Amino acid sequence: MPPIPGSGLAKGLAVTLRTMTKKTVTEQYPDVQPDLPPRTRGVIGLFEENCTVCMLCARECPDWCIYIDSHKETVPPAAPGGRERSRNVLDRFAIDFSLCMYCGICIEVCPFDALFWSPEFEYAETDIRELTHERDKLREWMWTVPAPPALDPAAEEPKELAAARKAAEKLAAQQQAEQAEASEQAEPGEGQA
Ligand code: SF4
Ligand code: SF4
Repeated sequence: MPPIPGSGLAKGLAVTLRTMTKKTVTEQYPDVQPDLPPRTRGVIGLFEENCTVCMLCARECPDWCIYIDSHKETVPPAAPGGRERSRNVLDRFAIDFSLCMYCGICIEVCPFDALFWSPEFEYAETDIRELTHERDKLREWMWTVPAPPALDPAAEEPKELAAARKAAEKLAAQQQAEQAEASEQAEPGEGQA
């Protein structure tokens, strides 16, 4: 049967009418900032105080876009007669965001919590070389990292907190004992005077 003249137009108008009543999903960026989830994978921040230069992140990165340089330093023994130790000192830490595929593996594997996701995404460059962010820039991103989500009130206390509390309590008890001992020694002298 031949198509009814104008049926195509009617179908098109029906689609138009149907979509006209739906909420638009178009984001008017950059005039309006997108409403992104707080844990958006925008850019990676480096908290270099936590980095031990273990190289795990650079080794596991599928794109080989993390560049780390370091040198070794000798640390004197903590107590007389002890052994000297050596530690790695970070010289360079850079991520090439023109190669990064935002998989998050580096952040997952870092055993020392030195890498974090920041939701910042406005760092487009006209020169691709500028997309290699060196440690200072990676550090700047750290200040845009959102605070971690609150712990579940029913969750077990993190082992680090329990260990820190135990150490603080031990130190406080030691200081109290020292103070008590010092005041005991001071008392006979006061009596004589
Ligand atoms: S997010 Fe993935 S690709 Fe990007 S630096 Fe980390 S491991 Fe490499
Ligand atoms: S995995 Fe973490 S601690 Fe190891 S080099 Fe990378 S950022 Fe530093």
